[in-house]
Amino acid sequence: MHVTDGRKRVAFLYGTRPEAIKMAPVVAAVRRTPGLVPVVVTSGQHREILDQVNALFGIVPDHDLALLRPGQTLDGVVAGALRGFGTYLDEAPVDAVVVQGDTSTAFAGALAAYHRHIPVVHVEAGLRTGDLYSPFPEEGNRRFVGVVADLHCAPTRAAAANLSVENVPAGRVIVTGNTVIDALMWAVEHQRVTENPLIDAAIGQGRRIVTVTLHRRESWDGGIREVAAAVARVARRQPDVLVVLPMHPNPVVRAELRPLLDPVPNVHLAEPMSYAPFCRLLACSTVVVTDSGGVQEEAPALDVPVIVTRETTERPEAVQVGAALLVGTDRDRIATTLEKLLTDDLLHKRMASAPSPFGDGRAADRIAAAVSDLLSVRRLADVGDRVGTSAS
Ligand code: UDP
Repeated sequence: MHVTDGRKRVAFLYGTRPEAIKMAPVVAAVRRTPGLVPVVVTSGQHREILDQVNALFGIVPDHDLALLRPGQTLDGVVAGALRGFGTYLDEAPVDAVVVQGDTSTAFAGALAAYHRHIPVVHVEAGLRTGDLYSPFPEEGNRRFVGVVADLHCAPTRAAAANLSVENVPAGRVIVTGNTVIDALMWAVEHQRVTENPLIDAAIGQGRRIVTVTLHRRESWDGGIREVAAAVARVARRQPDVLVVLPMHPNPVVRAELRPLLDPVPNVHLAEPMSYAPFCRLLACSTVVVTDSGGVQEEAPALDVPVIVTRETTERPEAVQVGAALLVGTDRDRIATTLEKLLTDDLLHKRMASAPSPFGDGRAADRIAAAVSDLLSVRRLADVGDRVGTSAS
């Protein structure tokens, strides 16, 4: 229902699990901020997973666009979100729209707000690989959002520097830290078990765990098979280690993984895990192998070395500080790196003790404060350069 008590309405639009995880702490922070009220609109893309994350953080969406259609094209997602969210904004006007990251929903939400002259806040702004087609369509989406955003919440100084190169006025950029660290810290504090008896037993026995996640579109073309083959090889050579792989729901991904990993006794192919149990699993892992953006950010915060199975990353900070290794998708290289991390204590210790570059767990409060400023003064440029006023 439209609030008429003088508080400013701040709309959040999201549809996927990683967006929900990274937005939930911001919704909570806006809810705590005097004069602001959050309005949550979901796109219905990852329905079940989204409900789990919303429930975990006590968020009840105000409106669902119910956009999920089988075999949906990118055009279909953008057109549906643009029309659906636009209609919502016309019926229930808001004072700002917050989008996160690089999904097609984020792009469509920012565009709908721009069409109505509503200020756009971009959470996790400024990430770039420099290659418009890698990752696709994410690199394009985040650049499009950057063009219309009024407030760019960059997770790191490097991300803010990318925006500066693109001539975004410094007064519209704030370095906040990544909100995923806020969510992660909350989760590991509240969740003591993974709720999976096999994994909890292994943790109880002090068994070493390698956690693997794979889902990127650009890895489908052979990359996932390469990673799976590498993991199978190392698992066979290190039978004391338990490999846990919560599988992405996509049938294409599953069909690649099963033939190579099902026959290996110390590999556990699991269903996708709820967020807090997954964070507990990460916290108890010896090494993480992933192509996920969020997991690349979370593992260093838990002092767990990460092997990134991608050719490029828009999160170079973890590699730069020595917490992550970017290895591509060649099976020999992945297998050699993983085995080395399991057998070379010194290397493991060095990576585990690298600093966590993605924030201190207080990003959401900084973003809520900046939104509050934005809505009282409209243009942050008027209040001077905010880059560097907070977290690095
Ligand atoms: N995650 C989860 N359950 C799982 C696997 C991952 O909750 O079984 C979380 C993980 O902690 C991270 C997020 O999902 O915060 C990453 O999502 P994904 O890899 O799908 O997307 P990306 O981060 O690459 O955009």
